[in-house]
Amino acid sequence: MKITAVEPFILHVPIGKHIEDSVNRVDVWGLPGCVIRTDEGVEGVGYTSTQLGGDAEIHAVIRDAYAPVLLGQDPMRTRALWDACYWSSIHWVGRAGITAMAQSAVDIALWDLKARALGLPLWRLLGGHKDRVKSYNTDGGWLNLSVDELIRQLGALLEAGWDAVKMKVGSPDPRADVQRVRAVRRTLGYGFDLMVDANQIWDLGTARKVAPRLEPYEITWLEEPLAPDDVRSHALLQQSTRIPLALGEHIYAPVAFRDFILANAVQYVQVDCTRIGGVTPWMDVAALAHAFNVNVVPHHADMMRVHPHLAAASPAAAMIECILWLQDVFVEPLRIERGVFHLSETPGASTAVRPEAFARYRVA
Ligand code: MG
Repeated sequence: MKITAVEPFILHVPIGKHIEDSVNRVDVWGLPGCVIRTDEGVEGVGYTSTQLGGDAEIHAVIRDAYAPVLLGQDPMRTRALWDACYWSSIHWVGRAGITAMAQSAVDIALWDLKARALGLPLWRLLGGHKDRVKSYNTDGGWLNLSVDELIRQLGALLEAGWDAVKMKVGSPDPRADVQRVRAVRRTLGYGFDLMVDANQIWDLGTARKVAPRLEPYEITWLEEPLAPDDVRSHALLQQSTRIPLALGEHIYAPVAFRDFILANAVQYVQVDCTRIGGVTPWMDVAALAHAFNVNVVPHHADMMRVHPHLAAASPAAAMIECILWLQDVFVEPLRIERGVFHLSETPGASTAVRPEAFARYRVA
């Protein structure tokens, strides 16, 4: 089998509301990606996710740097093609951000293609550790919600069957964060797991001050308290709080996870397949985390369709994040019961886009 076409695309999908965390404001979700076609008629779809910034650049990297490397090659040799893309002409200026996200889209498309060619859902192809994955829900914990609305939305998620939810912190005044967490626990109780996510907004001094004040509220993890590359500061913070740290959604190199783990600076590895460079390095990081008995909890499962497959494949991943904003984009419906994802038996990575969604949301 040979690759005959690499067709980049960009979709802009309205999420149907406006949400905020400490640094991000989202109304429309960007999906730059590609369709890879072969001489045997099998194809694969991969994409990454943006807040629209960088979409055009990711599209250009796929078109100008990676497509020429891939054309004519055997799509089943995912490792060889990963290296070939990584060491292509753009390596000099790449290795993180735009290039890593473009490479993620390409690698996911190749794995989708390979799984379809072999007639297997991706989670089975990668080892099939389990056929269902528990999720926690983030889509009720936004920072732009009033305390009353926050409690109402988190309560609705608990009623719908989730027993783990996340809320955002990182308010301009950190005392407001403590008050919001206290209000949630006072009203909704302690019968569920509660995670908090600062989205990188704090400096070390602020994080060291706020984290101990959150400890009485049984926080499962504190996510991205600091700048995502700063191993030392995370290690120092972890020494000063008993709340486990979670991070990794903005890390672009597998070796960085090694350094965080060795520094005891992370307890929940949130490696994101759409940023780390695709399925190939994601599985490396999951194996690394497993060797150190560190949990893997990947980013959300609707915007990043491939994550349920990866969590199901890996013994290190017991849980996945759930935010359901893009339900009408993809061919395959997600099956979620009481917060648990049931994996599909359809061959591929569940990334195929409905033709109607392409027609409606495609901007390039
Ligand atoms: Mg996060």
